Amino acid sequence: DLKLLSKKDWTNKATALTFETRLFIDGGYRAASKGEELETINPANDTLLASMAAGTEEDIDLAVAAAKKAWDDGRWRHMPPRHRMEILSRLADLIEENAGELALLESLDMGKPISDVLNIDLPQVILTFRYFAECIDKIEGSVTNTIHEALHYIQHEPLGVVGAISPWNYPLLMATWKVAPALAAGNCVVLKPAEQAPLSCLRLAEFFVQAGGPAGVFNVVNGLGPVAGKALALHNDVTKITFTGSTAVGKLMQAYSGQSNLKRVSLECGGKSPQIFMPDLKDMDKAVDCALMGIFDNAGQVCNAGSRLLVHETIRDEFEAVFIQRSKEAYQPGDPLDPKTTMGPMVSKNQRQGVLDKINRGITEGAKAPLGGTIPEAYPIGAYIAPTLLSSVTQTMSPARDEIFGPVASLITFKDEEEAIQIANDSIYGLAASVWTQNVTTANRMVKSLEAGVIWVNCFGDGDMTQPFGGYKQSGNARDKCFASLMSYTQSKSAWFDLS
Ligand code: NAD
Repeated sequence: DLKLLSKKDWTNKATALTFETRLFIDGGYRAASKGEELETINPANDTLLASMAAGTEEDIDLAVAAAKKAWDDGRWRHMPPRHRMEILSRLADLIEENAGELALLESLDMGKPISDVLNIDLPQVILTFRYFAECIDKIEGSVTNTIHEALHYIQHEPLGVVGAISPWNYPLLMATWKVAPALAAGNCVVLKPAEQAPLSCLRLAEFFVQAGGPAGVFNVVNGLGPVAGKALALHNDVTKITFTGSTAVGKLMQAYSGQSNLKRVSLECGGKSPQIFMPDLKDMDKAVDCALMGIFDNAGQVCNAGSRLLVHETIRDEFEAVFIQRSKEAYQPGDPLDPKTTMGPMVSKNQRQGVLDKINRGITEGAKAPLGGTIPEAYPIGAYIAPTLLSSVTQTMSPARDEIFGPVASLITFKDEEEAIQIANDSIYGLAASVWTQNVTTANRMVKSLEAGVIWVNCFGDGDMTQPFGGYKQSGNARDKCFASLMSYTQSKSAWFDLS
């Protein structure tokens, strides 16, 4: 039914919406200890949505203490697996039942088109909780083949208190990729969402308790990264930090671990993903549509955004012409609450300014902007930026190297497969890549040569919950989604019995 609502319906619903602004600790809402606040702004119209409680070190201490108490008394990890599965499944049901409210929170908070929240983010959030709920009783240990007079078994136990720090680009989904497997494995969690989009994750923790989850097992502390995030990552009672965000902050996470208790650190960081278009690609329209989706969905604020378009020199002109034409048809900035909108504003004016600076730097270095590159005339208010193509980009220019995290594609040409691979791998990042060719031998060879954690052949962004999502090199060291992600929230225990 939600999918049938009009822009007017959504706008009316948004006007009637109220926001929870406090922190969620030990099963209930509470004010921030020091009474500090942070403002969250609707980037579509520059209006203040809410003043949110901003947690400080004291609040992180309270939340970690609540999680530690829940861990110590075993109220979650010792609950029968079936029971935990039911709670996480009910949580998924509650998210589904409240999809309208969550979609609005997400859309207002970060400017994401309401259709995207409904069609992409929320179904993935629900699926993630259902998948990891189903995995709970599939965690198995092993009995090893050892000497006759001994029994040796290995079992996998949860870690303790997991601190999760998440970004703003898919606020609920990125948090869910951490929280769902951490909880499913039996851990207790303190989540610190991104300060730019702090509204939706609070409801997640509330639904967990409504679904029957014990108090203290899942806590949410909003706050600034260098304050609340840092306190969480430095906390000595946190046994693992699971982080999604920029590479620069990811590096801090490892330092914080070293400065405190050597907690485990799993990192999902930035990217500069190449999409390689070989001259024998089958369907130019489909390839370009995927290229557009890969860089303009979510206004390019995607870690695995296909921001480098590596196009064979013989098809370059056709590619660019089709890209510009289809971009104008498919991606026009619009009001996020209009279900027809495919591109909203950026998350904030700050973020937009950073993107504009990077575009201008690229142009100074010699790139051309045959599409976009500016603030759209129709949207002087808000944090809008026009979908942008930079052409004549070479490998040494900044648009080919720096993560822009906005709707900016860089078109780079290559002359043969070897050069394509060399350009593709010439990056500090290695999150994702795609290859477009009809030749399966070429595709297979390229997949083997590409330094990336996720590679798509003749598609972009496809996958399901079995697909490990994570990067090579400075894109991180973790894999989200998949069963292995669940196991990364456990540790193995070896028990050796002398039976002689
Ligand atoms: P960010 O690194 O600025 O912030 C991420 C989180 O870290 C936020 O919650 C923030 O408050 C917190 N933080 C910031 N400084 C901190 C500090 N000093 N100590 C502790 N916590 C701190 O990233 P962002 O701007 O929110 O998100 C965009 C980045 O995230 C991009 O680089 C993008 O590629 C990356 N990302 C990666 C993936 C992935 O799966 N690999 C997914 C989404 C986004």
